[in-house]
Amino acid sequence: MKAITLHGTGDVRVESVPDPRISDATDAVVRITTSAVCGSDLHQYHGRVPGIEPGVVMGHEFMGIVEEVGAAVTKVKKGDRVLAPFSISCGQCEWCRMRLPTQCSTTGRAVFGGRFGKQYPGGQAEAIRVPFADYMCEKVPADMRDEDVFFLGDILSTGYVCAENAGIRPGDTVAVFGAGPVGLLALQSAHLFGPSRVFVVDRVDYRLKLAEELGGVPVSLDRGEPAEQLRGLTGGRGPDAVLECVGHETPFAQAIQSVRPGGTVSSVGVYVEQSIGFPAREAFFKDLTLRMGICNARNYITPLMPLIQAGRLHPTRIITHTIPLGDAPKGYAIFDKKEDRAIKVMLKP
Ligand code: NAD
Ligand code: ZN
Repeated sequence: MKAITLHGTGDVRVESVPDPRISDATDAVVRITTSAVCGSDLHQYHGRVPGIEPGVVMGHEFMGIVEEVGAAVTKVKKGDRVLAPFSISCGQCEWCRMRLPTQCSTTGRAVFGGRFGKQYPGGQAEAIRVPFADYMCEKVPADMRDEDVFFLGDILSTGYVCAENAGIRPGDTVAVFGAGPVGLLALQSAHLFGPSRVFVVDRVDYRLKLAEELGGVPVSLDRGEPAEQLRGLTGGRGPDAVLECVGHETPFAQAIQSVRPGGTVSSVGVYVEQSIGFPAREAFFKDLTLRMGICNARNYITPLMPLIQAGRLHPTRIITHTIPLGDAPKGYAIFDKKEDRAIKVMLKP
């Protein structure tokens, strides 16, 4: 089958790889109908993630139709249209039972197309092997398009968790750092909690423009220090909650500098470095609350689906490109360089 593989920094290729097969009785093979490029793929693309084997099939955002199931699979059957979370978990170990499937000890915290724990090929391909199919696969209602439900497997759940962890209360002021796909979905999610205003910080004008269309107040990094700008916009105090959706040392520090005393910083950006510096003294004296972490997307797929059906979340608004799988190298390049007004790039096998 055709798949997108990574060979080095900035080097993604369209290659022919072996078709996925059922290797454990709990597996399903899913014929992919939609996949996408994620900001997390860019960390690998930038060569910031050590230990990646050349030729790995990329991608952890995908959905499709079940083609075959192993002998032990009982809930999912051939022909079902399904969605799966980005991380791979057994559903039965101590961590999975504690509703922390990203910490799964059976898979060693594996991610499709990723580098932690056991290696599983990713979803930027024509088909994929989904382990622990009964736990991993969520059936998709027939009246929802791929694009409506797709982001529940990763970035919509992540954006939602970022807002939920921030403890936003009605009337609060909120700032989102990053107007990429995750930040824009965090903005939409923040609105569910009734804030008075949500500021969105970035430097890419077309992304800030979409943030504004989605009800955010744009704050451009080109106009000066974001903490200062945000204080100016909140009567000198700083936002009650800051949602960090970038994943670098600088925005993490800026989030801490921006939040009001006693406020909350909620971070979902992925830090690929072992450690980063941050203004610890300021965080301490501000008495702030910090929440951070990978998203246990499996837990959110079912509860968030009705919010999309009810029109309270509009995940498709972030899609700017839908291109054939074979054009993925170009999709990576425009998403990475922020060319052609790219925000979310969808791939169709
Ligand atoms: P993206 O790269 O498209 O978006 C990042 C945005 O941040 C860009 O628009 C960029 O211009 C902006 N930015 C850069 N520096 C900034 C700064 N100092 N202040 C404000 N904005 C700044 O990526 P994305 O797909 O939106 O993903 C964002 C992050 O979320 C990535 O680190 C990704 O790995 C992470 N992520 C985490 C999880 C999770 O489970 N926690 C899941 C999915 C993605
Ligand atoms: Zn992702």
